[in-house]
Amino acid sequence: MHDETTTDTDDHRSVRVRELLLELSFDDLADLVTGFDMWTGRPVERLGVPALVVTDGPNGARGAGLMGTGTPTACIPAGSVLGATWDPALVERLGALLGDESRAKGAHVLLAPTINLHRHPLGGRNFECYAEDPYLSGRIAVGFIRGVQSRGVATTAKHLVANDSEFERNTIDVQVDERTLREVYLQPFEHAVRDGGAWGVMSAYNRLNGTYCSEHEWLLQTVLRDQWGFDGFVVSDWFAARSTAGSVRAGLSLEMPGQGRFYGRERLRRSVDAGEIDEAEITAIATDVLVLLERTGALDGVGGGPETTLDRPEDRALIREAAAAGTVLIRNDGLLPLDPSTIGSIAVIGPNARAAKIMGGGSAGVRPYRQVSPFDALVARHGDTIDVRHARGCDIDRSTPPLGPPLLDGPLAVEFFAGHDLEGESPASTTVPMAGFRYFGAPHDAVPATWSARATGSFTPEVDGPHLLQLVQSGRTRVLLDGEVVIDATEGDFGRGESFFGFGSAEIEASVTLEAGRSVELTIEFANRDAILLSGFSLGFASTVERDLLGEAAALAAACDVAVVVVGTNDDWETEGRDRESFDLPGDQPELIRRVSAANPRTIVVVNTGGPHRMDWLDDPAAVLWVGFGGQELGDALVDVLVGDVDPGGRLSSTIAQRIEHSPALPNYPGENSVVRYGEGLFIGHRWFDARHIEPAVPFGHGLSYTTFSWGEPTLTGAATTDQADPLVVDVAVTNTGTRRGSEVVQLYVEPHAGRLHRPVRELKGFAKVTLDPGETATVSIELDHRSFASYDPGDPAFADLASATPVPAEAGAERRTEPGWYVEPGRYVLVLARSATDPVARVEVELTGDDARRAP
Ligand code: BGC
Repeated sequence: MHDETTTDTDDHRSVRVRELLLELSFDDLADLVTGFDMWTGRPVERLGVPALVVTDGPNGARGAGLMGTGTPTACIPAGSVLGATWDPALVERLGALLGDESRAKGAHVLLAPTINLHRHPLGGRNFECYAEDPYLSGRIAVGFIRGVQSRGVATTAKHLVANDSEFERNTIDVQVDERTLREVYLQPFEHAVRDGGAWGVMSAYNRLNGTYCSEHEWLLQTVLRDQWGFDGFVVSDWFAARSTAGSVRAGLSLEMPGQGRFYGRERLRRSVDAGEIDEAEITAIATDVLVLLERTGALDGVGGGPETTLDRPEDRALIREAAAAGTVLIRNDGLLPLDPSTIGSIAVIGPNARAAKIMGGGSAGVRPYRQVSPFDALVARHGDTIDVRHARGCDIDRSTPPLGPPLLDGPLAVEFFAGHDLEGESPASTTVPMAGFRYFGAPHDAVPATWSARATGSFTPEVDGPHLLQLVQSGRTRVLLDGEVVIDATEGDFGRGESFFGFGSAEIEASVTLEAGRSVELTIEFANRDAILLSGFSLGFASTVERDLLGEAAALAAACDVAVVVVGTNDDWETEGRDRESFDLPGDQPELIRRVSAANPRTIVVVNTGGPHRMDWLDDPAAVLWVGFGGQELGDALVDVLVGDVDPGGRLSSTIAQRIEHSPALPNYPGENSVVRYGEGLFIGHRWFDARHIEPAVPFGHGLSYTTFSWGEPTLTGAATTDQADPLVVDVAVTNTGTRRGSEVVQLYVEPHAGRLHRPVRELKGFAKVTLDPGETATVSIELDHRSFASYDPGDPAFADLASATPVPAEAGAERRTEPGWYVEPGRYVLVLARSATDPVARVEVELTGDDARRAP
């Protein structure tokens, strides 16, 4: 992981780091572990130690800007799409691209990957997380981490641990037993650290069994460092640190962001003076930061420069490939792939048809290099031979949508000014794709702390009649249309709303009457006077003319050869900070699907959501594709799949339940009285549906291809012993028996026999994806090891005494293991080779012989 030539074998600190440590004063050590501002640490200039630079993560390297206003960057598909690729090698290539992007943004650390689990369908950040399954999540994480770190950029596997919901995320106490933690929620992190070699970990906001994760000694010290051998740095989630001494003792290496609420010179000094911690403990965490600075090349001057852009053609191609590789063909009665030469007209319908939803909301948001809507991509590719037409179908805006493409005629030009009065020369300028921006502090180095800005551009309404303008601000704003003031919010109190992390104003509204097709000049003047925390505004815009959108869509569908209905959500419905309220697709979308499917039997539904949503309409359309939040190339990738240039390579990374009430976490979600109990234990996702014999709407691992495959007889090699000293290898030949190139995912589930502990019916323990030409055969090898058969037993060292102390003879089966660890019991196991959690292709029995084989945690 780092240069062996400068390292002792028993010490991860290089000679250079040790030499630096000799020179560092107490204050220097304190500086190293305390953030400076939102995205940087503190330098020790005297010794040439530069400030650490970090960037969010995880579907792009955003840089220091906020969502819409930062430096443009590559936007790869969101986590649940990466999970659906079942392809760690592909994710590794994407990771390398993000490593390059992080470097282009001057960053040493990418705050990613997000590897919490889809515990409940309504989790607000499900889009950002890979899967419901801990093994799948872990393997994808390993690919991601290796890729990013191959570029010398550190990752922070986040958020350790059990931050699986946004409900009261800053305070909630997640109560979960140790076995479940080890087998489920810690599992992806263990992969990330042990196999991925993650240089960093981010501690979660929540409490774990009563203690905040950022000061949890068992979590950060015992498990992470002592047992897993982690030798990197632990950064707090933003504002997640809760104590000085407790955090230092637990090994929280860096408090972020600055200026430091619990770390910092004075607090750390006081804590040492009070005898709560000793200096060596601060040296230990500061060492973590120095090691990080060395690993990422920061000590050699890498990073910290101005933010730049890459936007390389090969990156676009890779992102497009990944979007298709994560697209899941859920249902197909033969309509797909479309043959464009036989189609005269396509109706592209739905709220997401003309505005691609390529990412979810919150800290994962980036300003993408580009985004192409499904409609635009279809017009660009086939518009010369096919009449591509559009109907919105219904609206799904949670709040009035910000004025942006396609209504805006182009990005708005923004000029910044010193002072609140838009006066003098403009020292800096930028463009923004939407009518809004938000900044922490000054928007540019050349702009002072007190500033103002003028944004100009134009937009073209689509319909005649009344329209609503809706402004929220953190600061002071005036909006002019064709030179006339329509909203003046420069004075007065407008109260507080939900925007700008709760610091923004309530909505300030105006109604204007506009003409369809006539461009309107837009000017927005802003001053950061009265802004709290963030400065900025957002201008929403919507027609208020009543229309029968459903009827128009059905009529259009009936008049066209094929209908493509793009339904879904957006970054307002699926976002960090808030869980979803409903399992249903928002608005009239289920009804839209039914009406369009009834109007045209050749209807394809494209589901553009991050997390699982109800699909009780699944049987109505001829075909259903799930594309997730597919990243900046989503539109083109979708067309690739629709017309069969590329096989839809994805398999669902989460079960879609028929009803929300079937969800395993139902009785224990979202929690109450500041506590959530993970009462379903090991039975997350498909494990629950198996155990309860509940038929899901779409099972975990499901996804169709445009071609067909046959599988040969699986063979087993290796030792069938419980200690698995020699791993078992399962080989199976897969042949593409169809007429198109396509991919198949071989999923391997292990069914344990009835043993000492209660276990899920089957657990995913291996998988392999192959892409084959027609007629081609490949042999897939899946390696199983001790962990593939093991379950975790926390043991009970006191049990031996307890058993001998009791006068009552032990009940049958009441003996316990005294040592904690991973155990494989001898006996019969079944290896299920399957296409999904409910679609077994072959079952191979294996009898493991030997003792109850333990491995240390
Ligand atoms: C999120 C993290 C993110 C951090 C910095 C937090 O709110 O939970 O995932 O990296 O902010 O933006």
